Amino acid sequence: MAAVTLRGVRKSFGRFEVIHGVDLDIRDGEFVAFVGPSGCGKSTLLRLIAGLEDLSDGDLSIDGALVNDLPPARRGIAMVFQSYALYPHMTAYDNMAFGLTLSRTDKRTIEERVRAAARLLQIENLLERKPRDLSGGQRQRVAIGRAIVREPKVFLFDEPLSNLDAALRVQTRMEIAKLKEDLRATMIYVTHDQVEAMTLADRIVVLNAGRVEQVGSPLDLYHRPRNRFVAGFIGSPAMNFLEVAVVTAEAGAVTIALPGGATLRIPVDGAPPPAGTRLTLGVRPEHVGVAEQGMPATVLAVERLGGETHCHVALEDAQRMLVRMEGDIPISAGDRLRLNLRGETAHLFDDVGQRL
Ligand code: ATP
Repeated sequence: MAAVTLRGVRKSFGRFEVIHGVDLDIRDGEFVAFVGPSGCGKSTLLRLIAGLEDLSDGDLSIDGALVNDLPPARRGIAMVFQSYALYPHMTAYDNMAFGLTLSRTDKRTIEERVRAAARLLQIENLLERKPRDLSGGQRQRVAIGRAIVREPKVFLFDEPLSNLDAALRVQTRMEIAKLKEDLRATMIYVTHDQVEAMTLADRIVVLNAGRVEQVGSPLDLYHRPRNRFVAGFIGSPAMNFLEVAVVTAEAGAVTIALPGGATLRIPVDGAPPPAGTRLTLGVRPEHVGVAEQGMPATVLAVERLGGETHCHVALEDAQRMLVRMEGDIPISAGDRLRLNLRGETAHLFDDVGQRL
């Protein structure tokens, strides 16, 4: 059971606390991604789990054992860094074998494990090369291979794909997905790439300023963000937010007034707030339709991506929205549109940003 448990984990650098009491239960064999804005503490949290930083407070367990005071080498973890961290004077083979050689594993076992990992990563023909003679993608595969041969209980990845170009990133992402299926080990993955988090992770942990905002499956976070922060962070392009007011409230739904005069009925989970309450309406750009009837809007700017068209619009009351349309749509700045929103794909947030 290589579960990873954090209880009340805090971390300060000098007088500044950057992790403010994090509780997390990562299950055996689970792939968990840490996401959040720059500086929110993703890497620090990963380094605490790795043992590269000491906890300021709280408890950390791996595989049921408290590891607060264990050095990295004795935690049963292996870490893959953005920078690969390979020894330049060693061949790919020796880089992969290095940790096992240090721990005095016998030569035959080392050879078997290195060859098996190389096969899995399709780098068998590169083992005699030094890092300088490998491409970025190949170097990262060697670094991943070095982690695999140690047969860790937990893999830790710190933005492993961010130094790769777009095409290689897609390919290596697919390889990590396959690795996840083949190894079925616990994996914790820090990324600022939404697509990586959404496609690889069983669950995503959204961090903000050293706190956990929400933990959930990728689609759970997309469809049911707990608050405005998660709603705005998950999804690309980002969710639109509009200031609106409640017209009528009933059990299980709220009707709001949209800019331009129309109304929209939106199902809510909690107690609906009374008429007149100011709320924030959240609508994803892909959930705004163009219709005969609907909210009037004027096109401000158009971005054509070929397969889709992003249209920036201004509403009657000057609030702005982004509309994402399928295909290459013949539309230009100054055009007038009518926009159609659906209550089932809209979200409402109260004055402190909690979803209703
Ligand atoms: P990014 O996405 O930019 O890599 P991150 O979410 O991984 O960011 P961290 O690197 O964990 O963020 O940093 C969290 C906070 O802790 C930041 O404010 C950072 O400046 C601070 N910090 C990190 N390491 C140290 C350190 N060794 N000494 C002082 N402050 C640090």
